Amino acid sequence: MSVSTLIFLAVGLVVIAVLAWGSASIRSDLYLHALCRGGRNERSVALTFDDGPDPVRTPEVLDVLARYGVRATFFLVGEKAAAYPELVRRIVAEGHVVGNHTHTHKGFFPLYGSRRIAGEIRSAGEVLHAITGRRPRFFRPPFGVTNPAIGRSVRRAGLATVGWSIRSLDTVTRTPRETVLARVLGKLHPGAVILLHDRCPRSAWLTERLLEALGKRGYSVNTVERMFDIDAYED
Ligand SMILES: [Zn+2]
Repeated sequence: MSVSTLIFLAVGLVVIAVLAWGSASIRSDLYLHALCRGGRNERSVALTFDDGPDPVRTPEVLDVLARYGVRATFFLVGEKAAAYPELVRRIVAEGHVVGNHTHTHKGFFPLYGSRRIAGEIRSAGEVLHAITGRRPRFFRPPFGVTNPAIGRSVRRAGLATVGWSIRSLDTVTRTPRETVLARVLGKLHPGAVILLHDRCPRSAWLTERLLEALGKRGYSVNTVERMFDIDAYED
């Protein structure tokens, strides 16, 4: 193999690695600008819950948030919202923000073509609009994966993408819940956007311990609407 072939292969590998990293990391900003952290000067964080509403876990999480008097952001799956509209109404009635997390949240979402991706985003938005009377502006891509087709669809829909700066990995059931809590607290920083899920048996426990620890460390909790000063709804 000649030197030029080797150089060509090496450059190709680097390009592939960069593109793969751009797809996998919501913080890369390669295909889509995502809001991943708030101001560094303010001692506040945003709690974000993905994949709900869940008929059992979401009410448990809402109860904890109400007890602590804090507001969070819920990225809802359209078809689950359609199945549990009363939960969506409760989330909004209690002062939390709802965002779009696609209609079906299928594992193959990042591999869909542009039209199907746009349809997933549109359907979820329509369901949430029908239930709440408002069109969510915030969007979070499933798994945090982005690519050119997702980027185009989100920009056309005029949505604001929200990423995270702390990933709890709370859905990994083999990890003890104490380890998940320690992971989040170990990465805590002003302006953190914390990724959680309201669909796990440990969700309420984790939320409560987190709020307890945040209080002790002098952190307040904001919605992403407040943190980034962007209206959560288009109308
Ligand atoms: Zn998700």
